[in-house]
Amino acid sequence: MTTWAIPPADPAWVAVHDSPARFAVRRIFCVGRNYADHGIEMGGDPRTEPPFYFTKPADAVVASGSTIPYPPGTSDFHHEGELVVAIGKAGQDVSVADAPGLVFGFAAGNDLTRRDLQAQAKAARRPWDMSKGFDRSAVVGAIRPGPLDPAATLRLTVNGTVRQDTTLKMMIWSVPEIVSNLSQLVALAPGDLIMTGTPAGVGPLVRGDTCEVTITGLPPARVTID
Ligand code: MN
Repeated sequence: MTTWAIPPADPAWVAVHDSPARFAVRRIFCVGRNYADHGIEMGGDPRTEPPFYFTKPADAVVASGSTIPYPPGTSDFHHEGELVVAIGKAGQDVSVADAPGLVFGFAAGNDLTRRDLQAQAKAARRPWDMSKGFDRSAVVGAIRPGPLDPAATLRLTVNGTVRQDTTLKMMIWSVPEIVSNLSQLVALAPGDLIMTGTPAGVGPLVRGDTCEVTITGLPPARVTID
């Protein structure tokens, strides 16, 4: 029997819609740019480039309905409303046609970002970890098992005002394309989450704001900044 000098931490988890069961989070992958309008607002044209990825720690996950502190180290804390793919089956080198078979379900999410630190990292050609993978940086609503409405829309509001509004058809790379492409780079495993990128309209959050991401057919991802 193994004895631990430091015992394993309790797993990070996300609620499953209409179920008492929890989805244990293994890893969180994020697509860097997946909507042309947001890529252009960030100073590039992602349609000419393959997808790229960054990660957040599993324990960065924040349940919908949480209140979180304004994070340290930033004065430009941004929201990014995103579709989240929850992986339920292992797969490597998966074809686009087979990729949907790995998917457990979908959730609404918010890829919280320290935009000023990201801009500094980009300028210095340094990693994004501290701008993207900080504590409580991944808001994820309850996962709804099963397929996504093909006509689904994504909307993000701050204190009820719409800031981001798109249809998921505007994604440059579809969910099967992302799952297939990412599976060429890492062996995907049950518990992995993929945040699939944000549309145009990213912007700052300040103390007291409540930010909600809603996607057709999915439970919302709501967070309040204290
Ligand atoms: Mn993002």
